[in-house]
Amino acid sequence: MSAHDVAIIVVAAGTSSRFGADKLASPLGGRSVLARAVEAVRTPFPSAPAVVVVREGSLAAARERWEGASLRVVAGGARRQDSVRNGFEALDPGDDTVVVIHDGARPFVPAADVEAVVGAALEEGAALLVAPVVDTIKRLDGEGRVLETVRREPLARALTPQAFLAGTLRRAWAARLGSEWSDEAGLIEAAGGMVKAVPGDPRNLKVTRPGDLALLSGLFGAGTRVGQGIDVHPFARGRRLWLCGVEIPGEEGLAGHSDADVALHAVTDAILGACGAGDIGQHFPPSEERWRGEPSSTFVHNALALAQERGFRLVNCDVTVLADRPRVAPFRERMTRRLAELLGLPVDRVNLKATTCEGLGFVGRNEGIVAMAVATLEQPAFP
Ligand code: MG
Repeated sequence: MSAHDVAIIVVAAGTSSRFGADKLASPLGGRSVLARAVEAVRTPFPSAPAVVVVREGSLAAARERWEGASLRVVAGGARRQDSVRNGFEALDPGDDTVVVIHDGARPFVPAADVEAVVGAALEEGAALLVAPVVDTIKRLDGEGRVLETVRREPLARALTPQAFLAGTLRRAWAARLGSEWSDEAGLIEAAGGMVKAVPGDPRNLKVTRPGDLALLSGLFGAGTRVGQGIDVHPFARGRRLWLCGVEIPGEEGLAGHSDADVALHAVTDAILGACGAGDIGQHFPPSEERWRGEPSSTFVHNALALAQERGFRLVNCDVTVLADRPRVAPFRERMTRRLAELLGLPVDRVNLKATTCEGLGFVGRNEGIVAMAVATLEQPAFP
């Protein structure tokens, strides 16, 4: 099957009324629910023409975000069935094309399931993914009393994607003009057609209530990023020495515009690096008077705030100081505790190491101190 035989419609024009917010924009593993759904259904047919159908009001923003060589965005209608129709008209597929219809609120669908439902539609004209009903099903009266236990063996939960030969859909639409249906499989049934049920992954949930995101989050790993920071400062007469936010008494300090805490500068750069936000010089230029004499904890706090804005949280930080003097060991515990406090981390997620350079190079000649830091940030699957 070539990509020309498949066309994809992702329906994303609902109102999220049971969710209380725009569920399709909710983050799941660092991406929106809708981005996950579009990516999942397109994975086996990446060059097939596709449309995302969105609410009229979000059309401009969605076009900006989504439109590309084989992906278009169109406005939906009042009902889901109208939105599907709008997407179909935009694609205008040939009668032998398999049209794949997927809910934008279903972020998890394995590629093998998409391929299976497309294969079934090619053979049978219409197919949908289903999952077994595992709970015992009761039929109730209007007062909440049980009338009977329903046999669940012949029942199945309807999932998406559903897939149809375009010609089959066109004929069913013509036959059922003016009717309503909840999904296109229902339209084909009402038109007297056969729909093949294809067993799909039961974890293919539709995000309907806020708790559904928590259920799905386990399927998407947290986005992990690592950043590195390195800084060097020369010693300077008449300055106080700060390392990891701790003042080392009786030692010559480092030259610099701020308090010149070389270790906190490396930590700041590691955090900025992990979230792709440039470096300390861009955010706190030494040319700006307001940073003169500033405690470097300010830079760390600002970098953390920036990471948080981008949806990241710090997981751990490892710092190495290269200095032949002063001896870091007597201050190591205090520095580690201070670092943990500044970073808002438990002490066991912060590590401070120190080494001398055995008399070699500018560190060995006691001309300055080098600090290196590595920071890990995580974009939680479900914040
Ligand atoms: Mg510096």
